[in-house]
Amino acid sequence: MAAENIAVTRETFDNVILPVYAPAQFVPVKGKGSRVWDQQGKEYIDFSGGIAVTALGHCHPALVETLKRQGETLWHTSNVFTNEPALRLASKLIAATFGDRVFFGNSGAEANEAAFKLARYYACKKHSPFKSKIIAFHNAFHGRTLFTVSVGGQPKYSDGFGPKPADIVHVPFNDLAAVKAVIDDHTCAIVVEPIQGEGGVMPATPEFMQGLRALCDEHNALLVLDEVQSGMGRSGKLFSYEHYGIQPDILTTAKALGGGFPVSAMLTTHEIASVMAPGVHGTTYGGNPLACAIAETALDIINTPAVLAGVEARRQQFTDALTALDRELGLFSEIRGKGLLMGAVLKPEHASKARDILNAAAAEGVMILTAGSDVIRFVPSLVIAPEEIDAGMTRFAAALRKVLAA
Ligand SMILES: *Cc1c(COP(=O)(O)O)cnc(C)c1O
Repeated sequence: MAAENIAVTRETFDNVILPVYAPAQFVPVKGKGSRVWDQQGKEYIDFSGGIAVTALGHCHPALVETLKRQGETLWHTSNVFTNEPALRLASKLIAATFGDRVFFGNSGAEANEAAFKLARYYACKKHSPFKSKIIAFHNAFHGRTLFTVSVGGQPKYSDGFGPKPADIVHVPFNDLAAVKAVIDDHTCAIVVEPIQGEGGVMPATPEFMQGLRALCDEHNALLVLDEVQSGMGRSGKLFSYEHYGIQPDILTTAKALGGGFPVSAMLTTHEIASVMAPGVHGTTYGGNPLACAIAETALDIINTPAVLAGVEARRQQFTDALTALDRELGLFSEIRGKGLLMGAVLKPEHASKARDILNAAAAEGVMILTAGSDVIRFVPSLVIAPEEIDAGMTRFAAALRKVLAA
């Protein structure tokens, strides 16, 4: 029987998929720009962007064109052989950032795994095998491999899997004194998201980021920025470290890099890269020509003044709409984040309603996200049309009124 003849519905999920997710009750089948349609033909406005991934909307014509062209040319070579799209994408990422060397992976977790291993390896080779301490932050999110959940600051994701990688210390985010209290010459790296995404859409303060840079320099530690979610234009700059007047030693990015095609990158300096040698780290798919060709097109489009400047205007439109809604409903204590990584924080008396709001929004025809327990998160396409923001906000308002009336 041909695969397309098997009827699948949302119920099929519960019978065939490992139960690590609880997806919404509809099954999307088609997307165009910032609109999505489900199996019943119902239309949704997408403010969730596939979790900050589809930064150019669904099925952007230029990405589709590249997918088709490269799909008919060369998909995969392995890293036993290099390929043109990977070399071009790396060259463009280097030209656009602090970085001199690139490692490609397939997911945010894989880029972070490479970053943390590199930080440890560099310290071991250049300083001492005892320089292994990693300082990270409460509520941080860095991925789901055992090393990345262990560096992440959410025990609910890292407990229950047996012994964790050792020598990782967590302190409160945006608290420089807490970092000063634990950093020492055995510290190999500080790992931080410039804007905590999953942890609640919380931007680092400039003093905090600049202080981390200075502390790293003082102790010969590396500053590792996880820009898996905050990078690739999301903040209104290509990478959000540009807002802070500092440069990292290692940076990871993924999510929007491929605009929906799985690909990630770790960037670092020539000096740090120089400790690596063939065989020290690797991946089969990382840097494959299909993924890199699509990411190259995404980067070409995102890294333009028109797209980057448009982020701030769209944020303003979201903020104005959310502020007006809040005047009517009194739900939010704060709208925070940077660019199109936005969080509407529910007041304590409404904090338990985040999931109900997400479900009610879907019923009204708008896809949103939560972050942490009490934050409604919006990470739409960077090129979402103003009319789509208006239409989505009207539906979101209807959902909020229903939840409050319930
Ligand atoms: C999503 C995310 C990751 C993990 O990326 P995956 O592609 O799911 O492995 C890591 N760090 C941050 C900041 C993220 O938002």
